[in-house]
Amino acid sequence: MKIGVIGAGYVGLTTSACFAHIGHSVICVDNDEEKIRTLQNGKIPFYEPKLKHLVTKNVKSKRLKFTTKTIEAVKESVILFIAVSTPPKKTGKPNLSYVTNVAREISSTMNEYKIIVEKSTVPVKTGEKVKETINLYNKNNIPFDVASNPEFLREGSAVDDFLQPDRIVIGVESKRAKDILLELYKPINAPILVTDIKSAELIKHASNAFLAMKISFINAISVICEMSGASIEKVARGIGLDKRIGLNFLNAGVGYGGFCFPKDLKAFIQIAAELGYDFRLLKEVERINEEQKQRFFNKVAKLLPNLKNKQIGILGLSFKPNTDDIRFAPSIDIISRLQTAGAKIKAFDPYAMNNAKKIMPNIEYCKNPYQVAENSDALVIITEWDDFKKLDLNKIKKLLKRPIVVDGRNIYDPKTMGKNGFIYQSIGR
Ligand code: NAD
Repeated sequence: MKIGVIGAGYVGLTTSACFAHIGHSVICVDNDEEKIRTLQNGKIPFYEPKLKHLVTKNVKSKRLKFTTKTIEAVKESVILFIAVSTPPKKTGKPNLSYVTNVAREISSTMNEYKIIVEKSTVPVKTGEKVKETINLYNKNNIPFDVASNPEFLREGSAVDDFLQPDRIVIGVESKRAKDILLELYKPINAPILVTDIKSAELIKHASNAFLAMKISFINAISVICEMSGASIEKVARGIGLDKRIGLNFLNAGVGYGGFCFPKDLKAFIQIAAELGYDFRLLKEVERINEEQKQRFFNKVAKLLPNLKNKQIGILGLSFKPNTDDIRFAPSIDIISRLQTAGAKIKAFDPYAMNNAKKIMPNIEYCKNPYQVAENSDALVIITEWDDFKKLDLNKIKKLLKRPIVVDGRNIYDPKTMGKNGFIYQSIGR
């Protein structure tokens, strides 16, 4: 099938490469000329495991191409995915202008029947807005359908998540759109849930809200573990072995971040309020998350009461491992608190430093974790990259000015750390 994907970001590029991989013909569009030039030169504009291989292979077999011109994708494709950003406004409401701009561009160049699919995460009832926009600019009355096909991939495992999803959700309002989208996803072996458009939109926000709630829940439990002397890992396992609850998303830490949970929660709270429901549960999820970052900062501040001119070494900047994405990463918040208290920051991240440099220029960026530890008053772990789990801790101890490690992801064993002479603090244990 012929597909156009508008937006070549984490979602758009993965969607494009994966659809090409399962045999479709894909044109991927982005209005960022630099990004498209990078892709046309065989490079990937961000780090995502397995994606480069998939893109290269499918460009070679001519199933995937890149352009800055939406019109090219519209002319050649039946299905057009909108996969542009939906960043939060100051009010917390999502900025939907990127989505409606693309809808306008598509509608003014449509030549025959098209399905315009929302892939971006949007609030319930956005489909109506997209339809209105298309109708407004669809001068030749070309037939079209709007559909919602929310994306559940996770950065860091995006390709596998796309090709082996837990489920595919398709929100449609015509049989024609339904049949075409079912055909599109035929090569992927996963349960497909067909709904109306509003339900599909709501499923995405509700899923992310539930996952964020699970994280805040376990973070709240971690506080009670600290206060009572229980161990969060044992408690989490004891809870998670109950199949009704499940073990995933029960890792206590410094709080959730990234481009999805923080903004989607805010957007969900807002849309619920507009519809007349005060979503207090989610407000509390947000509050616990903010508090968790403050609590983590307090752990460092307690060990080093006067942070002024202290050197703090940070390991991990991306919002989670296996991505270079630092959007709304907890590291930004924690580093800012440390700097406000007068600390000097040295940091290392395997992939996220280029992105971090753009928004946190006043940090000393290091070549490896050992350089971070050298002469630092404390080592602070914010992202649980696998490499950090295998460090030579004896070497780290010798390099540190004081043997303080504050671990926001529980990657080390407290007993071993104690035995090795570290002053070690982690979460909920
Ligand atoms: P992103 O910022 O990485 O990519 C968006 C891309 O759209 C950018 O490259 C931008 O240049 C391009 N763009 C914006 N306006 C355009 C236009 N008019 N024409 C062509 N290109 C345009 O964002 P992302 O992380 O891929 O997220 C996209 C959407 O998917 C968001 O709504 C997000 O919430 C949702 N989502 C993201 C993830 C994730 O893990 N990142 C997962 C599921 C859903």
